[in-house]
Amino acid sequence: MSKPSVLPSESESLSTLSSIQGDDRCVLTVYFPGSRAKSRKAAPKRLELPESVFRVKELPDDEAEHFERSVKVWRKAVPAVNLPSAMGWLGVVSWLTDEAAFMQLPGEVKPMVYLDNSPFLLPAARQLDDLEAYAVVYADHMRATIYLAALGKAQEETRLRGDIKNHVRKGGWSQQRYERRRDKKIHQYCTALVAKLKDLMREEDLRRVVLAGDRLLLKELEERMPDDMRNQVVCSLPMEARKDPNEIFRVTLTAAAREERREERRLHEKIKGEHAAGGRACIGPVDTLRALREKRVHRLLVGPMSNVELCRCRGCGLIELGNVEKCAQCGDTVYGQLAANEFMDLAFASGSHVEFTNDSLADIKGVGAVLRW
Ligand SMILES: [Zn+2]
Repeated sequence: MSKPSVLPSESESLSTLSSIQGDDRCVLTVYFPGSRAKSRKAAPKRLELPESVFRVKELPDDEAEHFERSVKVWRKAVPAVNLPSAMGWLGVVSWLTDEAAFMQLPGEVKPMVYLDNSPFLLPAARQLDDLEAYAVVYADHMRATIYLAALGKAQEETRLRGDIKNHVRKGGWSQQRYERRRDKKIHQYCTALVAKLKDLMREEDLRRVVLAGDRLLLKELEERMPDDMRNQVVCSLPMEARKDPNEIFRVTLTAAAREERREERRLHEKIKGEHAAGGRACIGPVDTLRALREKRVHRLLVGPMSNVELCRCRGCGLIELGNVEKCAQCGDTVYGQLAANEFMDLAFASGSHVEFTNDSLADIKGVGAVLRW
């Protein structure tokens, strides 16, 4: 077997994983808790899954064989990788192509196993969307720390010292000179912070910033940001006492999650507006599926789609909406699939952006998209 790969925790990795395909249901997807998961009391030395997960019933003979062979590849792959500490993991193996890949998840997962002709990426994609990485600037007049909030923790990236004293009353000339010098120091301090923040955001491909700390200093900082960076500031949290990274992560996570909800709502409104005006948008499973197949989708918004039935052919892999008995293309038998996962796969395949929501999206029939053309 080729060496199992550990992919970075980002949406491009999902596209890489989605290219692991087979004609048959021979791709095994496993979700499992990492060593930092609360659900795991003691961190085991290596990954062991509960045996119950591998006890699969009611598979047709050929699929049962695929499953057994996949589990063999899995058991070989796991000891061969050195997985760093994490909240959760996604693993994909394919015995046909002899591939194995792992990706760290930003949140906790329950152990789950899926066997299909492509990896089951929906839970991972949802987590990456909901728990998108962001930068935190935690600053007052004396000192500043920049954190990268990602993969379930806040990690310190840079520190800066401001050492700016409080206002003092001296009066007259020396007062003015003192204030000018103080303003200059604040300017230098904030400019240096903005530069460090810019570097981190470029390196880590971040789109969100949370500010925390002294209210006046944060205001000075925002004033010195370029417009595009200021637009990426999700919120500014006044904090008096110094806090440790765990607490900073916990407090800022709520603000970042709120921004994620706002982004979902903005896309939802855009789809509705464009569609009503006869613009570049589509709504509902039928039209959206057609647009996905024609690779016209720019941004897909997908809800749970729990009442949308979808089948996939065992023979040719054709996807059809509704509860069909046989494949319309080759006549082979079909099996039910989660609609949200299939829509997401198609979107990944054509490089579309996918936004997930827990909202049922009833007014756009569960799913919709902004189109390229
Ligand atoms: Zn077929």
